[in-house]
Amino acid sequence: MPKVVTRFAPSPTGHLHIGGARTAIFCWLMARHYGGEFHLRIEDTDLERSKQEYTDSILASMRWLGLDWDGPLNYQTQRAALYNQYVDRLLESGQAYWCSCTPEEVEAMREDARAKGLKPRYNGRCRHRDVGPGEGHCVRLKAPLSGKIVFEDMVKGTIAVDVSELDDMVIRRADGMPTYNMAVVVDDYEMGITHVIRGDDHVSNTPKQILIYQALGLPVPTFGHVPMILGPDKQKLSKRHGARAVIEYQNDGLLPQALVNYLVRLGWSHGDQEIFSLDELVKLFDGGSLNAAAAAFDPNKLQWLNAHYMRSLPVEELASLTMPFVAAAGFPDVSPEQVEALCPLFRERASNLKDLAAAFRPLLVSAADLATADADLPKVAKALTDEACAHITALRAELERVDFGDAAALEQAIQDYVSGNGLKFKQVGPPLRAALLGYIGGPHLHEVMHFIGREETLRRMGAERLDSLKARIAAAGL
Ligand code: GLU
Repeated sequence: MPKVVTRFAPSPTGHLHIGGARTAIFCWLMARHYGGEFHLRIEDTDLERSKQEYTDSILASMRWLGLDWDGPLNYQTQRAALYNQYVDRLLESGQAYWCSCTPEEVEAMREDARAKGLKPRYNGRCRHRDVGPGEGHCVRLKAPLSGKIVFEDMVKGTIAVDVSELDDMVIRRADGMPTYNMAVVVDDYEMGITHVIRGDDHVSNTPKQILIYQALGLPVPTFGHVPMILGPDKQKLSKRHGARAVIEYQNDGLLPQALVNYLVRLGWSHGDQEIFSLDELVKLFDGGSLNAAAAAFDPNKLQWLNAHYMRSLPVEELASLTMPFVAAAGFPDVSPEQVEALCPLFRERASNLKDLAAAFRPLLVSAADLATADADLPKVAKALTDEACAHITALRAELERVDFGDAAALEQAIQDYVSGNGLKFKQVGPPLRAALLGYIGGPHLHEVMHFIGREETLRRMGAERLDSLKARIAAAGL
């Protein structure tokens, strides 16, 4: 097999969205699987909508996803002269011609075809008129008059289009700029692309591009058109479905490996396997097994996968990824050691880094800043009976004697208090959680105590803290 060269060709008219990201991942995986090359090309010819900030953002998202590219970045706006050399070549060989028809005239031809029940098309008027260059003249490809364009799509199978469906397309506009399809063909040829994987919104461009390859006598690459990603309701994917730009997932604390794993499975499968490491994907993804049917986006599955990757990361790595989120949650001075100690306490319960960092709050604020959310208040009120408060006070006295540097000793002290007084754990556990954390839930109590330390634990179990909790309960009328 000759060297496999793929490319991703985003238009910088917005941030990288999950549909584009998935295409990029497929192209990258295929190149890496075959030990080939993966190129990146910025299709910025829409001058009004293209912005450098979007190019920067797309590149940042590619890097974050781990999709490195080979060779230089190509910007289409810098390559117009190159494209026009190929247009000139077609003019010289008689495969293209100058056309002086005005837009109004072309529209009239289309109208005419429509009226006859035919596909609206340019009628080839300038084909034999030998018009030559001039003000307002464009260049058109001389398309064959009959026959079929047939190609074997990697995803969709055989696709055949009758050339009568196409007309003599413009390859260079009257303003001298090459058209989109012309640019793409020249780029893909010049970049040595062997496999073009892209969204199936481009499938109608492919026969036109094949005509250009044929006219230039260039080898036609293999095409693969992947179906759009749909929402869970099978409608076009949108924000309403929780689908967002890659950068938004990053800001919400998703792990890139979770997003890559999720997106790959959304259009490709390997048996029933759901979880793949990147190495495994590179090994398995050979460009086959791409689903022709559109897949539906499922935000819950993405969260599930992310939770899986968060649990499987080494704790130091999870901690270092969580650090910026801790700072953003309002705790810029927390040390890496502290975050490393906190991560194992909460990671089972969080499905993204942002939630994980937010969960640290009760362990990082001082007793006076502990808050109880309205939603948690009824449970807190139920747990914090007078009897429960008396247990907290009595346990507090026992804890004075315990070494807080030893989490196991703290656990033992709580156990001893419960069993020594003939109690059930639930008579002590929930009210103690309310006192220490402000809600009923969270990590093991002895781990919380071990982290916040003796002074803070005793403060949170003290009369002042219990009174303020009771006042909050009373104020809510509970
Ligand atoms: N620039 C096109 C897009 O963003 C991709 C074209 C292609 O892959 O050929 O949809």
